[in-house]
Amino acid sequence: MNRYKNINRRKSNRIYIGNIAIGNNAPISIQSMTNTHTEDINKTIEQIISLKRVGADIVRVSIPTLEAVAAFSVIKKSVDVPLIADIHFDYRLAIKSIKNGADCLRINPGNIGNKKRISEIINHAKDKNIPIRIGVNSGSLERDILKKYKFPTPDALVESAIRHVEFLDTLNFSQFKVSIKTSDVFSTIKANQILSKKITQPIHIGITEAGGIRNGTVKSSIGIATLLSEGIGDTLRISLAADPVEEVKVGYDILKTLGIRKRGINFIACPTCSRQEFDVIDVVKRLEKKLEDISISMDVSIIGCIVNGIGEAKIASLGIAGNSKKSALYKDGVRQKNKIDNKDIVDELEIQIRKKVALLEKLSNDA
Ligand code: SF4
Repeated sequence: MNRYKNINRRKSNRIYIGNIAIGNNAPISIQSMTNTHTEDINKTIEQIISLKRVGADIVRVSIPTLEAVAAFSVIKKSVDVPLIADIHFDYRLAIKSIKNGADCLRINPGNIGNKKRISEIINHAKDKNIPIRIGVNSGSLERDILKKYKFPTPDALVESAIRHVEFLDTLNFSQFKVSIKTSDVFSTIKANQILSKKITQPIHIGITEAGGIRNGTVKSSIGIATLLSEGIGDTLRISLAADPVEEVKVGYDILKTLGIRKRGINFIACPTCSRQEFDVIDVVKRLEKKLEDISISMDVSIIGCIVNGIGEAKIASLGIAGNSKKSALYKDGVRQKNKIDNKDIVDELEIQIRKKVALLEKLSNDA
């Protein structure tokens, strides 16, 4: 059943970061960024693998030093997810990152300095045929623009972005995407709405420095979902002061909620009340953790009693309707003869979900 409204995506050019297509109707990709010291090669690789496990399409790695560029070269050879090198201030680090295998660069031309240096970076990007992201942030606007607008307003941010876009045009370079981010949700929305009408490149969206898990998730969801539902945004990053794995999970939850892209188990769970026949919150928490490796999408309802349990279970792939001591299990809307002991719900549901995933994977491989 399609419960979602259709969203008309804004048309844009397409670029590729490694094997991931961005723009021109490609699936909206989810990025995150490592927060290890890049020089700590093992920890950085470990974190990239954890990010990939929960579905990160692309991972960004910051390159603040020459040691980080050297580490990047080793890291790149050890992982199979496309990597973006994040560069600020030093154009030489950008060039070395390109030489060390970056699939894309993220630069803020405003802090790279003069046009000659930016041109050098672009020449190397052309040589290796890799794209770049022009990232404009409210915290690092060019002085003259800030002076003109007095404040990093949406128009000021767009003017900065367009200045960079026009400069790249003069260099005959079109393989780039653009982002405008602020920590203010409405400024970010407004700036991206204006930008989306002025450029043909893909747009990377996000609310920068959004905060901790709860606050950051709420801000990001409001900002990103507003833009996505207007068709704006080709790739996204949730910025949380938290384990970056959470960023990827929140990103998927936003895309799942909007019906744009699905991944993993979509739990439909009740908030619980005194009618609950088993500990719904604990069951959901444990299953979320156990099943985060699953990429195939599936609705699973876990409802504490029969008030809503039967109705939800009937429209989910798998569902539990809580009942005294033993609860009813539904598969594809059909109630199963054998009830599940309430203390076995987590184990039994995991078995059932994995069985169903294996079957769906086989069907899609055979197709
Ligand atoms: Fe309470 Fe049942 Fe509603 Fe869950 S479904 S909140 S247990 S009444």
